[in-house]
Amino acid sequence: MAAGVEHPPHDGSAAAEFEVRNPADGSIAGRLPDMTPAEVAELAQRLRSAQPEWEQLGPRGRARHLLNWLDWLMDNDQRILGLVQQESGKSWGDTSIETMVAVEVINYYAKHAPEFLADQTRRPHGPASLTKKLEVLYRPYQLVGVITPWNYPLAMPMMDVPPALMSGAAVLTKPSEVTPLAWAEMVRGWNEEIGAPPVLGCATGLGATGAAVVDSVDMIQFTGSVRTGRAVGIRAAERLIPASLELGGKDPMIVLSDADLDRAVGGAIWGGLFNAGQSCVAVERVYVEAPVYDAFVSKLVDRVGELRQGMDPQGSFTTEFGAMATATQLELVERQVQDAVDKGARILTGGKRADTGLFYPPTILVDVDHTMACMREETFGPTLPIMKVADEKEAVRLANDSEYGLGGSVWTGSAARGRRVGRALEAGGICVNNAMVNVFQFPLPHGGWKSSGLGSRFGGRDGILKYCRKQAFVSERVQMGGELHWYPYSPSKARLTDQMIRLLGMHDWRRRFGRRFPDGGRR
Ligand code: NAD
Repeated sequence: MAAGVEHPPHDGSAAAEFEVRNPADGSIAGRLPDMTPAEVAELAQRLRSAQPEWEQLGPRGRARHLLNWLDWLMDNDQRILGLVQQESGKSWGDTSIETMVAVEVINYYAKHAPEFLADQTRRPHGPASLTKKLEVLYRPYQLVGVITPWNYPLAMPMMDVPPALMSGAAVLTKPSEVTPLAWAEMVRGWNEEIGAPPVLGCATGLGATGAAVVDSVDMIQFTGSVRTGRAVGIRAAERLIPASLELGGKDPMIVLSDADLDRAVGGAIWGGLFNAGQSCVAVERVYVEAPVYDAFVSKLVDRVGELRQGMDPQGSFTTEFGAMATATQLELVERQVQDAVDKGARILTGGKRADTGLFYPPTILVDVDHTMACMREETFGPTLPIMKVADEKEAVRLANDSEYGLGGSVWTGSAARGRRVGRALEAGGICVNNAMVNVFQFPLPHGGWKSSGLGSRFGGRDGILKYCRKQAFVSERVQMGGELHWYPYSPSKARLTDQMIRLLGMHDWRRRFGRRFPDGGRR
């Protein structure tokens, strides 16, 4: 069942709440306030007023608070991961990996922010500016909004909040209404447990709360669907604030005939089925060169048959992946599978939802083509549709035949082929002989092309500078009583200015010394 289905209307008297349900068994995992736009605006104002002091702490001062927060998370990891599992219905293995992102992102930006944010001195462009010191200063937006989806309740905000905080901005987060519990607890930890300045807020609620966040901040980092991302981008344009949009994907996996098939099969399973396929950079469609197609499919069917599905008890690691997060998402997967079957596809594994809970089994589809929704629309579920292709040219053509361009992977024994095919793909992130790992290489940018997004996260210093405005800073090295071009004008000052312009700016001696050639004149 989707979260937030039952919530009383706002009447201004009592705080309205929404329910969060565990998709594995439908039980109530928690309740949180459904914040009104007025409440969001008030929270934004509080965060904004705490921001100047936060910025003044400098990157090293801010890093101390982020590292304290990380310690607090890791000291309370079982409780917080327990919330992640309850609200998402994941397996314990898929759940417990979420803290890794927090550890890595916080450590990376805490360590590198002083270097990334350092003022930059620039050389004057010409002799007239030699008396000036030129610098670029990076000043944060006062309030950054971070809106996240439901697929990684802890890891998703942890990708964007640490660099935003480290930039010196205050941050107003909005977790998905489907899975807000763990993140709300993380924000409570920041504000109540570690003595950090009150510059991190959590607006809980449904879509209207998210829209109110966009209306309250100076820069918006959004992760979610293309549909909502487009609405956020339009609103940001109306408000003239920058938006960074990380949206959906339909990542192709290309298996060439010289690939290590066992590794490729392992990669397809991990890339396609991790987190029940609910990853933006999941393998969503597979193209296999004809000579290895049969072997690939048969190995994949064998290995998928060994997978265990369910929400296993905390700490047990007895299943690989768990539930779909919402009934809507599960129904979308069912519709795509039915559409494929109606158009001639065959189901080799799975294909039917479990009797209880929002579980959909790993489903391999063959005899698929691009008339089917499963090859064109984002699935966000545990399906692996596989298509046989004649050669790498056909694979590239089909891979690029998509409105999405988030990521993709190429599997081959030849580095040159991997590079050639990878470079031909119209997508923001490519892996050769791996899947999804490009997202977690922080020196590299992660961002979608085409409908998959606008802007990017990470990418070394770009990942923190995106939360900053550039301030041009000019100071006089040599102080004189006045400048030649200041008022009042006089013929002698004007003459001297003209002589200087010519002497320093012309390219031949005759013009440097004031000769004019109204009819042309060669150099
Ligand atoms: P969604 O777009 O429905 O919701 C995302 C967030 O936006 C939620 O917090 C929601 O409450 C909020 N929201 C809804 N309406 C809003 C509005 N009008 N203004 C502002 N905020 C609003 O997405 P979802 O279903 O939660 O997540 C799944 C999608 O996220 C998939 O398409 C997936 O590919 C994408 N995703 C992308 C990345 C990436 O990095 N590219 C990562 C993870 C997920």
